[in-house]
Amino acid sequence: MKCNVCNHHFSYGEKLKLVWRMTFNNEIQCPDCKKTYYISQKSLSVSYLILLAAQFILLMTINLLDVSVGGLFLITALMLVIIVFTFPFLIKIVNEPDGLLERQFQEMENKKKMGQR
Ligand SMILES: [Zn+2]
Repeated sequence: MKCNVCNHHFSYGEKLKLVWRMTFNNEIQCPDCKKTYYISQKSLSVSYLILLAAQFILLMTINLLDVSVGGLFLITALMLVIIVFTFPFLIKIVNEPDGLLERQFQEMENKKKMGQR
């Protein structure tokens, strides 16, 4: 993944930092030229689906293996670590927000701007 403006290459570590520091509206910034990018909502939904599936498998495993509370805690912690470190592979970064809500919001903003002119 590269920045369109300055060709800055986002390394895995940078993506990891950016993703977990992202703001409420999924904005991230290029460290070099400060251009704003957005975490793709589509790739986020896919990530959530994968997480849900993983959780389901985990629950099934716990039922089958009769894990103790300590073991459960350990597995959950392990899952969290895996989630944190696989997230940068799953997400995509786009120039414009591609979520349905963002699109509606942008249309509203555009209409407002048109009205002012
Ligand atoms: Zn850049």
